[in-house]
Amino acid sequence: ATFGTLSTRLTESLKNLRGKGKLSPADVDGTLREIRRAMLDADVSLNVVKKFTSDVRERALSDEVNKALNPAQQVVQIVNEELVTILGGAQRRLEFAKKPPTIIMLAGLQGAGKTTLAGKLAKYLAKDKHTPLLVACDLQRPNAVQQLEVVGKNAGVAVYSPEPGNGVGDPVKVAKDSIKFANDKQYDVVIIDTAGRLGVDAELMKQAADIRKATSPDEVLFVIDAMIGQDAVATAQAFQEGVDFTGVVLTKLDGDARGGAALSVVSETQRPIMFASTGENLDDFEPFYPDRMASRILDLGDILTLIEQAQEAFDEKEAAQLQEKFATDSFTLEDFLEQMQQLKNMGSMKKMLGMLPGAGAMKEQLDNFDERELVRTEAIIQSMTKAERQNTKLLNGSRRLRIAKGSGMTVTDVNALVNRFEQAAKMMKTVAKGGMPQIPGMGPM
Ligand code: GDP
Repeated sequence: ATFGTLSTRLTESLKNLRGKGKLSPADVDGTLREIRRAMLDADVSLNVVKKFTSDVRERALSDEVNKALNPAQQVVQIVNEELVTILGGAQRRLEFAKKPPTIIMLAGLQGAGKTTLAGKLAKYLAKDKHTPLLVACDLQRPNAVQQLEVVGKNAGVAVYSPEPGNGVGDPVKVAKDSIKFANDKQYDVVIIDTAGRLGVDAELMKQAADIRKATSPDEVLFVIDAMIGQDAVATAQAFQEGVDFTGVVLTKLDGDARGGAALSVVSETQRPIMFASTGENLDDFEPFYPDRMASRILDLGDILTLIEQAQEAFDEKEAAQLQEKFATDSFTLEDFLEQMQQLKNMGSMKKMLGMLPGAGAMKEQLDNFDERELVRTEAIIQSMTKAERQNTKLLNGSRRLRIAKGSGMTVTDVNALVNRFEQAAKMMKTVAKGGMPQIPGMGPM
């Protein structure tokens, strides 16, 4: 999972502070050494690591203390806040032109996921009542134009591509013509897909810069594969110099990326990450929120994204009820079962579970998670009486045994489900009420 190792190592090193009544400089330095190694191993650039650890150190040893938190929790809070800072601070939204069409240009290496992203972005904007037009300016890669046409069809949006014999081979002309076309046909957002190369190359940069000059885009999004590792900073800087961009899109965050790209690119280019791409499907796409990403990295969970996705999959009323239930501690196994049955139309369950607090600690289970787990969980809950589903406190030993028999599972399976449910409900409650969730095993924040 995204940031898997980094996340595990950060939470581990922070856990070592647990139980200390007071933190000495040596305690803080010990933890920071581990954090520093974890970040370097995750390919975060040395500059960023140095600045990060020195900022955390200064704050952890200063008088700026939150009396409500124990020392270990204070360090977690500081690390969390500093992570938010290096991820860009506040969320940055797309800027739309005062007079349409808004022009968004995509740039990046070949294979970064630009064409896929063009479709995702278009679909996302179309949902928001925009009328996007995709423009095929990658005239280099064989089939790139066709690929964009397929993506456009899947996204249900229009694609502007060069007609044979008219501007073929001249992406600048295609881009210019597309804007005239968008004006005539009243498309309000133009998304220009450009050509990439396997490595940074002068001709590619010039072409992208020429397209930029000819179209004066409102946004230039630099698309970067989160798996790129140590080359991330150099590649981003090359694009910044050659084309310049207004924002970054991180792709393939679903993969086993070590995450360093995300943590370095913002600081090194001073450009915000605006979107994250998390899979091959057109819906695997989210606006990027630095605070939510930081809490995913620290395994504090990402309940807000979870609730938002629920909001999209269900209707809003239902999602609000869900949040209310979390907040008031009245979320029951009955609700859980209902959600689970609806979740089947909500993308991969695994991804959802990955957003729960403590998901990092359950990484292995998550990796081994398969849909059959759902069937088993369903069977267990279905073997409970209505009263038991409403109130897990009723579940004494003999009831658990009956449920295990009824569902063909073991008592251990039943116990595990009940425990997981109770823990999740507790954390959901904290977050739904606007609090900070606890780091698993660290006591409440
Ligand atoms: P382009 O050359 O920059 O236009 O890249 P493409 O859009 O053609 O993407 C290259 C490959 O990466 C394709 O096989 C995509 O399906 C895949 N891809 C794109 N975005 C993601 C993502 O977020 N996650 C995963 N797993 N694959 C992706």
